Amino acid sequence: MTKEEKQKLKESIEQEIETLSEEIAVIQKALYPEKGEGPSDKVAHLNFKLDQSIHIQRYEEATKRLNRLKHAYLKIDTPQYGICQECEEPIPMERLKLMPESIYCVACMEELGL
Ligand SMILES: [Zn+2]
Repeated sequence: MTKEEKQKLKESIEQEIETLSEEIAVIQKALYPEKGEGPSDKVAHLNFKLDQSIHIQRYEEATKRLNRLKHAYLKIDTPQYGICQECEEPIPMERLKLMPESIYCVACMEELGL
């Protein structure tokens, strides 16, 4: 991995962290509406409940990914970054570009059932 490639990955991680943090803030607002913003009647309340479960799922996914990205961001300047934790082979650049938080190569991830 060249310095430029690493720098680009770093920037895309920063970007992703920012996007996810904003998304999480929006979901949090949807999950915990302020007084007066909650559902007003029974149907609205039911829809609200349905939305809640979708929001909760999305919230969990977003926070999990955010944690992985933060972890990758801390590790990016160490020699372990971009190395598969299972087979210790370098993870292909194309994969890191799509998922900079990857800690396994595709083969190992499939092997591990992740
Ligand atoms: Zn591997």
